[in-house]
Amino acid sequence: MGRWGKFITFEGIDGSGKSTLISAIKERLLKKGIKEEKILITKEPGGTDFAELLRDVLAKKVDREPLAELFALLSARYDHTKRKIIPALREGKIVICDRYSDSTFAYQVFGKGLEYYLVTHLNKIASLKLKPDLTILIDLDPKIALERLKDKRDHYESLGLEFFERVRYGYLALAKRAKKRIKVIDGSRSFEDVLNDAWFYVESLIFGEE
Ligand code: ADP
Repeated sequence: MGRWGKFITFEGIDGSGKSTLISAIKERLLKKGIKEEKILITKEPGGTDFAELLRDVLAKKVDREPLAELFALLSARYDHTKRKIIPALREGKIVICDRYSDSTFAYQVFGKGLEYYLVTHLNKIASLKLKPDLTILIDLDPKIALERLKDKRDHYESLGLEFFERVRYGYLALAKRAKKRIKVIDGSRSFEDVLNDAWFYVESLIFGEE
């Protein structure tokens, strides 16, 4: 492997199992002999002090314009990408990010109705044109996700189940257009099955070239 690292993102609706899966994938990487300092686990929106502040602002239950929300999300992405993700990739690290650009398309375009080309254009600036090498999309019926999420239920209730159905559909549409990069995993099965599927793709990316 050259000096430049690998960028892996995890996507899916809230409660689809991203954070649980990321922790388990990290454990497997460590077991396979990858050193802890070679792995960066990060999350969007967030990842830098400034982006974390924006995350707190975005989490507040204040009504806002979808476009205003987009600018805040992209502002956080730019800071995170420039100051944390790219430097880590430059050092040859495996960067694992909980949500990235696909979330913006699924939520802001398919969920909230912002214009696809506008988001594409602005996101190119925010992401510095960085694209993941691999994206694991955990596909799950929002009704099941809602059952699994006990403490974040109000988030679902305020946006509504149909919103999450649009987001789910959006993710699947994105996956159809980027079959090589986005791998869809059926998240309704046991965690072990979900983990084994995700690991297959991660392992092929990280160790496949040896
Ligand atoms: P996300 O990070 O996508 O919001 P989490 O990883 O927090 O989702 O998972 C939401 C809840 O669902 C957690 O309580 C987690 O333990 C549980 N969970 C995750 N994957 C599965 C699975 N395959 N089957 C059953 N429950 C799961």
